[in-house]
Amino acid sequence: MLLQCVTSQQQTNVIEMSLSPKSARWSDLTIICGSQTFQAHKVMVCSQVSYKPVALEIILTSLTQSEYFERICDSNFAEAATNTIDLSAEPLHAVQAMMIFLYGGPVEDQRQGIDVSDKLAFWVDLYTLADRAMIKRLITLAARKFQRAAEPVWASETFYKTCREIYSRLPVCTAALRGAVCAVIVKHLAFLSNRLHFETLLAETPKLAVEVTMAFGKSLTTVMCPAKGCPQLAQPWQVIGGVPKECPVCCSSWIRAAIDTEAESA
Ligand SMILES: [Zn+2]
Repeated sequence: MLLQCVTSQQQTNVIEMSLSPKSARWSDLTIICGSQTFQAHKVMVCSQVSYKPVALEIILTSLTQSEYFERICDSNFAEAATNTIDLSAEPLHAVQAMMIFLYGGPVEDQRQGIDVSDKLAFWVDLYTLADRAMIKRLITLAARKFQRAAEPVWASETFYKTCREIYSRLPVCTAALRGAVCAVIVKHLAFLSNRLHFETLLAETPKLAVEVTMAFGKSLTTVMCPAKGCPQLAQPWQVIGGVPKECPVCCSSWIRAAIDTEAESA
């Protein structure tokens, strides 16, 4: 990205400068969200030139930022004629975070003193906006940040409520976000499976139940220990995560992943 050569503080300054009224002189795109106006630059929000030093050369590639902005600016719509895009239907905090992301800045929820529910909602809002604006890297980032924010509150009613909200949306738009939800649930499944509220959530949200089951299955690895004398010899069993370093029964380091022959022959 264009801003990769500067430090974090310089980057913040550059972003503030890029989005300030002073930059209006060079701005060729106005993005409006309610009372806030961003004097933006097509070269930053549509596509950029990315450079990467490789050996003694600098490799230049074109990096699409937002397919949505690119298509609008390149269209016959009124937005292209006026160079103005109105995003007032989107939450302002999400639009602000998106603009900072497009200018290479760190994406965080800037609001102070907000509760867990608002923290989760922020990443869901940003994910939704990134999906609409077709910014692939921000979609991935928002899903990852959502997962990190949901981790400490996996047992809360707020988390259940957010799960319901996400699964009530169009499935095609929420794949990465649903993946993040399932990853959190699978990690704590042993505890959650004893909770009535979680059982109710699964019963009310069949797609979540299906995807949690699939994610749990994918988190399992079938292993076997080929060490002579091991009680587990030739008896494949399943563990969560990757192959352990040693057999938990005989402590042999020969343990390895195995194909589930029973399932294969069925
Ligand atoms: Zn063993």
